Amino acid sequence: MDLTEDELLTAIRRVLSGAGPEVRIGPGDDAAVLAPLSGEIVVTTDVLVEGVHFDRMLTSARDLGYKAIVVNVSDVAAMAASPRAAVCALTLGGDVDAAWTMELFGGMREAAGEHALWLVGGDLSGGSCGWIAVTVIGEVAAGRAVPRSGARVGDLVVVTGSLGAAAAGLRVTRDGRPASDLDRRLLRAHFRPVARVGEAQVLERHGATAMMDVSDGLTLDLSRLCAASGAGVRLALGEVPVAEGATLDEALGGGDDYELLATLPSADAVETARDELRETFGVPLAEIGVIVEEGLTVSAPDGGERPLRAMGWDHFRA
Ligand SMILES: [Mg+2]
Repeated sequence: MDLTEDELLTAIRRVLSGAGPEVRIGPGDDAAVLAPLSGEIVVTTDVLVEGVHFDRMLTSARDLGYKAIVVNVSDVAAMAASPRAAVCALTLGGDVDAAWTMELFGGMREAAGEHALWLVGGDLSGGSCGWIAVTVIGEVAAGRAVPRSGARVGDLVVVTGSLGAAAAGLRVTRDGRPASDLDRRLLRAHFRPVARVGEAQVLERHGATAMMDVSDGLTLDLSRLCAASGAGVRLALGEVPVAEGATLDEALGGGDDYELLATLPSADAVETARDELRETFGVPLAEIGVIVEEGLTVSAPDGGERPLRAMGWDHFRA
């Protein structure tokens, strides 16, 4: 490292953004102080480990910082809450330089700006491997948070946007140079995901009974929603919105899409939510299944039914 820890912390504090109206004391003191929030406080944290979640050979520091914020914002969004502030702690591997670290915080600040939250603190330490832990604090009106456990029999399962682009983007990075505009769009989906903050609040207003973000793949996350709700699901395979350039496998199991998976109580609710999402955000809403009493099944377009397996989609595709 070419700077002392204090020099680097001073530089990082200039990049942090503590100027929001709810921030009484921002970066640089022993702790940040936020004004009381109006509703309930929502807190989430996520850690990215070098060699497990990211590879510095494949990811720029700026993209990594950006994504480290967005994945947490997405979890806050999935409760139908609004992100307000974030803190970050990181350990830097031995060969990381100050420029890389500043780029990382630059990416965090960019994501914080785009998703309207404030970076109010950070800490760093040397270490044998790199990891980045981000905590995001948000707020939601009292009683309005949407858990993943509220799905009821007969609820319709919906998902925002399309699925599989992030996994396809990861495939493109591993294959080498992006060859087309489509490749570049897929890379962007992988490195620059979008958290669906406003969209989640639309789904909540239209009566979402359960909601979560799709971070680990549709089939796995859907099975988690069902387990939390004590219910089953019948997934309509032909209705799953597969992103352009992605395969069905990538849409079902790829992960990292950060779309919203939710259950709505009626066809009317789906229709009105779909209209509002399209008009306000230009984001489609697909109805992909129905909550049933028990069992996880997939209905294929040809009418066949098979068990839904959260992993190893290949085993039952044939
Ligand atoms: Mg989540």
